[in-house]
Amino acid sequence: MLSKILYENENCKWIMLARDPQKKTNVIDTNEYAIIVNQEAILLDPGGIEIFPMVLTSISEILDVKSIKAYLCSHQDPDVMSSLQLWLGLTPNAKVYMSWLWAGFIAHFGGEYVKNFVTLPDEGLALDFNQRKFEFVPAHYCHSSGNFHFFDPEAKILFSGDMGAALVPLDYPTVVEDFKEHIKYMEKFHQRWMPSNTAKNKWVQRVRKLNPSLLCPQHGSVFAGENVQLFLDWLEDLEVGKAK
Ligand code: FE
Repeated sequence: MLSKILYENENCKWIMLARDPQKKTNVIDTNEYAIIVNQEAILLDPGGIEIFPMVLTSISEILDVKSIKAYLCSHQDPDVMSSLQLWLGLTPNAKVYMSWLWAGFIAHFGGEYVKNFVTLPDEGLALDFNQRKFEFVPAHYCHSSGNFHFFDPEAKILFSGDMGAALVPLDYPTVVEDFKEHIKYMEKFHQRWMPSNTAKNKWVQRVRKLNPSLLCPQHGSVFAGENVQLFLDWLEDLEVGKAK
């Protein structure tokens, strides 16, 4: 699995894990993001059971697994969080942030760690993690009805879940190089998986205000610099949720 440092300063690092070559072909490829702040880590969308061994191996090379203190489950999908119980087996005191809407459903994976759940209100939440400020950003109906993204205002990095997701080949760059070329990998995904134009456009407006310099989706490649704007403009014009 590729491990790429997206941002680094004296006390914080964003690392992207991507393009797992050992993944079975019938399992959708996912990106995981580890944020390390003063030796403690948050894992954004821990991923599915199928890829847990590879993610664990890759992450063990960059940090002590016991230093993971928090997980975000952006929503309830299996590729997002079906590995959660396995991670909590290794880090039994870590917090798990998720929408209040999904807590009772995610508890079906096993009730042992429900005490670790921190449910997020619809309007989002500020997080102080080891003296660095982050924000859980509402992204409801993009695509799940209870959905959160994660923003680092200092680094100006937004983890954007399925927004910006693309189904790309294994040897595809981890950062988008040619935006126009990239459209073909994400157009159908957004048209089908995003159910609401209203929610999509509200999200675009919210993200424009945050003005991220990196936008990091759970599938595909990271948007950097002017490609963030190109992506937001493209998404605003795209009609989604069209019933056939
Ligand atoms: Fe999803």
